[in-house]
Formats: sequence, C-alpha cells, structure tokens
Amino acid sequence: MNKTAQREAIIQELRKMRNHPTADELYDVLRTKLPQISLGTIYRNLEQMVQMGMIRKLELTGRQKRFDGDLSEHYHMRCRYCDRILNIPQEELSGLDKELVLLRNRLQLEGFILELVGRCPYCAEAMSKMQEESVPDEEQEECTAGTTAQAL
Ligand SMILES: [Zn+2]
Ligand SMILES: [Zn+2]
Repeated sequence: MNKTAQREAIIQELRKMRNHPTADELYDVLRTKLPQISLGTIYRNLEQMVQMGMIRKLELTGRQKRFDGDLSEHYHMRCRYCDRILNIPQEELSGLDKELVLLRNRLQLEGFILELVGRCPYCAEAMSKMQEESVPDEEQEECTAGTTAQAL
C-alpha cells in the first residue's frame, strides 16, 4: 500500500469517527482493515496532516493528543467523568467570540485555546437514572405533577 493510499485511509477513518480519537484509538480501528499499518505510520501521517492543515490537533491539557477531522470552527467540551470530547457549535458561544476579538485587538493575542469542562449528555443521563432509581415511585409521580402544574 503506497503512502498516499495510507494517508487517504487514515483521514477517511478520522472523519468518520466523530469522537476526536487519539492515534491509538485510530490504530485500533484501522488495523482491522489494514493489518499491515503501524501505529508509527498513523502517528506520522496525523502530524503531517496537522502541518498541512488537513486535520486539527486538539490542545487539551495533560492528555494523549486527540485529532479532529472536522475543520469547521467549533469549540470542544471535555467530559470530566468519561473524558469524551463533544463539539460545541460556534453559534452557542457567539457572544464569547466577540469578546475574544476585542481582547485580541487590545492584548495582541495570537490565538486562544479554550477548554470547556463539564458533564456530557451520556454521563448526565446515567446519573439521572441512578437518581431516579433511588427515588421511590410515589414521590417521583408527585414531582412530575408539580412540574406540569407549574408549566401551565
Ligand atoms: Zn461523559
Ligand atoms: Zn471537534
């Protein structure tokens, strides 16, 4: 398999995976399809594609480097509980964008790395299920009725 085909396979897989994989995670997926590919090859290709602006490397604190095949402008949130990386559309932080532009002019910033940290929907759901289970049924019904009344 030549270098171009290898690179093509790597970038296609990265674009398919929406979870901002590490080189190791990409390797796990790719080696099932391309048994001859090595982790070193994947890592080298990822770094080259970052240099060429074909993909992005996420600047997250103290973790394995993660890669993103989605070049559109967006922010990332890291889940503190499962380490999942979520995309946050730029529109949701448009106020912040304006502030940063102002700040950039004032402080001559060359860029910014913003890491949002929180609880992802999967962990939030898991935790609310755990809470539901600990609440007796009767109490839960009362609670729902209360909310409906308020909404009306
Ligand atoms: Zn999570
Ligand atoms: Zn992303």
